[in-house]
Amino acid sequence: MSSIGVVNFSSKQGSVEIREIEKPTIGEDDVLLEVANVGVCGSDLHQWTADHSWHVNYPVVLGHEFGGHIAALGSRVSGWKEGDRVVSETAAVIDPNSPLTRQGLYNLDPTRKGFGYGVNGAMTRFVKVPARCLHAVPENLPFEQACLTEPCSVAYSAVVVNSKIKPGDRVVVLGPGTIGILCAAMARLCGAEVAIVGLEADRGRLDIARQYGCEGIVGDASAWANKQDGLGADCVIDAAGASATLKIALELVRPNGHITKVGWGPQPLNFSLDPLVQKNVTLQGSFSHNWPIWEKVLSLLASGTLDVKPIIGGVWELKDWHEAFEQMHSGKVVKSVLKPN
Ligand SMILES: [Zn+2]
Repeated sequence: MSSIGVVNFSSKQGSVEIREIEKPTIGEDDVLLEVANVGVCGSDLHQWTADHSWHVNYPVVLGHEFGGHIAALGSRVSGWKEGDRVVSETAAVIDPNSPLTRQGLYNLDPTRKGFGYGVNGAMTRFVKVPARCLHAVPENLPFEQACLTEPCSVAYSAVVVNSKIKPGDRVVVLGPGTIGILCAAMARLCGAEVAIVGLEADRGRLDIARQYGCEGIVGDASAWANKQDGLGADCVIDAAGASATLKIALELVRPNGHITKVGWGPQPLNFSLDPLVQKNVTLQGSFSHNWPIWEKVLSLLASGTLDVKPIIGGVWELKDWHEAFEQMHSGKVVKSVLKPN
């Protein structure tokens, strides 16, 4: 039996098309997950436009933000049953003996392979998922929202785990994409005053960000960053997909402040990092997420404390993937969601 999937077939720009995909065969520690919804990620767009910074195993089915029902279980899987509502983490292949895995930091295991670039992802009807990746989705949380547990976990990791924001802090987020807006929302939950910064073309997305109780700024955020005592923001979260924004972060951050970089961009820097030294600033990278982060995020989503509805710009059928990608790529919507069935 086969079904259609959104396949990224080469490293050339625009190499994404609908193809017939065989139903995956699962191993004894896997489940077969029938996908209810899958979010389109900025990284799916980067692989489509071929400006990504990571190795891709072509051809590969795209999609790593997904949830659905368990359709079949491997012989050694316990604790789950057919029909269970689940979302899946993204670390599809990890080395169980890696020192990082043993610390629970399997997301940083260098041999890790994720859905949608390392192994086949979820922009299709069925996906093979190791049972260790699964988290239960409460009945009251629709899959259209639950499939965004992944980007919310990226934001939780960047803001809560890697930035240690305190109530009353001034936090500037650069880049009003999905991750930027969710980082802003997460920083609000931490009790910070938050501004999110974009370009003229981002006005629509900044309006959406304002629904999370943050200030939306087009262009220069230095007046906002300096408002409290003239020294700058306690923390800058760089969620823009370009290296150059680090220069802005270094200008906005206060002495002894913190910069967390969660946005990717393969371009080399062409400026001095001296302000990092002179201001005694901590520069922190933030990548992916792990089991405890997913559990916290699901609890925030289920209680309504974190609401992802404002960022969902539409739900498209798989065959209309191009429209869904295009709407997000042009910035018309923050997040596109696909529905394989
Ligand atoms: Zn993603």
